[in-house]
Amino acid sequence: MLQFQEPEHIGMLREVLKRFIAKEMTREKARQWDQDNHFPREVHDQLVELGMMGLTVPEEYGGSGRDITGTVVVIEELCSRSLSVGGAYIQSACYAGLNLAEVASEQQKRELLPRVANAGLIFAYGISEPDVGADVASVRTTGTRQGDMIVVRGAKRFCSGAALCDYIYTLVRTGPVEDRYRNLSLLLIPPNSPGVQMKAQETMGLKGVGTYDVQFDDVVVPVERVVGGEAGLNEGWKKLVGPGLDIEKLEIAAMALGIARAAVEDAWDYSKDRVQFGKPICTIQSIRHLLAEVKTKLEACRLMTYHAAWLLDQQLPASVETSMAKLFVCDTARDIVITCQQVMGAYGYVRGFDMERYVRDILILPILGGSSAIQKNNIANRLNLPR
Ligand SMILES: Cc1cc2nc3c(=O)[nH]c(=O)nc-3n(C[C@H](O)[C@H](O)[C@H](O)COP(=O)(O)OP(=O)(O)OC[C@H]3O[C@@H](n4cnc5c(N)ncnc54)[C@H](O)[C@@H]3O)c2cc1C
Repeated sequence: MLQFQEPEHIGMLREVLKRFIAKEMTREKARQWDQDNHFPREVHDQLVELGMMGLTVPEEYGGSGRDITGTVVVIEELCSRSLSVGGAYIQSACYAGLNLAEVASEQQKRELLPRVANAGLIFAYGISEPDVGADVASVRTTGTRQGDMIVVRGAKRFCSGAALCDYIYTLVRTGPVEDRYRNLSLLLIPPNSPGVQMKAQETMGLKGVGTYDVQFDDVVVPVERVVGGEAGLNEGWKKLVGPGLDIEKLEIAAMALGIARAAVEDAWDYSKDRVQFGKPICTIQSIRHLLAEVKTKLEACRLMTYHAAWLLDQQLPASVETSMAKLFVCDTARDIVITCQQVMGAYGYVRGFDMERYVRDILILPILGGSSAIQKNNIANRLNLPR
């Protein structure tokens, strides 16, 4: 059943975050991080101190227990101000915390999960390749077993946070090509391993953690760094598309929700201050209608996101709802932000106004983490629409 009122602990979490953002993530700082493509590690560390990374880590490994709604709130709030911080939060709490809790070996959990909760360990996703986008199972980077070692050769593209992460969560082919879906493994590769080279890519938005081309030239990885341990060899596909995938779709929806909310708040305020023809533009009917529309769409995005999060917290099936949320929220948030830019006229297009950054940032979200087209495929397939 859909909950319309946020539980008390979630309201308190939002309050803590709002105070933190007002103090440590001012608009001026967020603009500077974007401009410099800078990741403020000190802010990440303060979030660790506040216990935010522990929301994905079970108590027996040093966290506060898995709380998907709480995690989504943190992402929404942080991304309403800065993806430089919000992106890294996801790479720590979700890429590292949720994945390890879900699919790592017991030894890996004991070693790494406390480091997520207490030190903000960061993973980068090494999945996409120059010739591999949506068709993830076709990765060409190989891992060849030699005794207790795996030798990795190949190239990854769009590896966000590769330069600042602790491990690249790397999808490699460890079995014969013809064993599709049964020939993949996930490896934990430190970015400073001998044979790893990286080159930054210029992107329009999503600044802060940065995204990289990563080359692996005979990088040697011990078998114990296969996610799931030795038993995880050739089990990479199952680990990648397991329950964690549903949460991943919501992470991107929460980012989009945060950006869209910030855009609506800015456009709303701007419309009250900007005077044309002797009166604030918020009194003009066409502007009022645009703002009423974006408020309404934002509410729909919020309900879809938190309904899906609630399903996940109840351990109920949510693969359709999370795909719907990823599809609807990201596409709608993009429309919302573009409309808000329109409300601000020329000022929505210039540097120095945050709206310009919201536009650059929102455009990638319908593409990342399974594009809108892929989500439509998923929804139709999961609902058994005959092909
Ligand atoms: C800023 C940024 C950060 C990123 N960060 C990461 C990261 O950290 N790690 C990582 O691994 N990747 C990352 N990516 C890559 C991102 O996940 C991919 O861009 C995404 O998976 C889509 O792949 P592609 O762009 O190569 O598109 P393609 O797969 O080549 O698709 C091109 C078009 O075809 C459509 N399409 C493809 N297949 C189908 C199909 N079966 N049905 C319908 N339509 C289809 C797509 O929707 C899209 O419109 C990042 C990308 C960017 C730009």
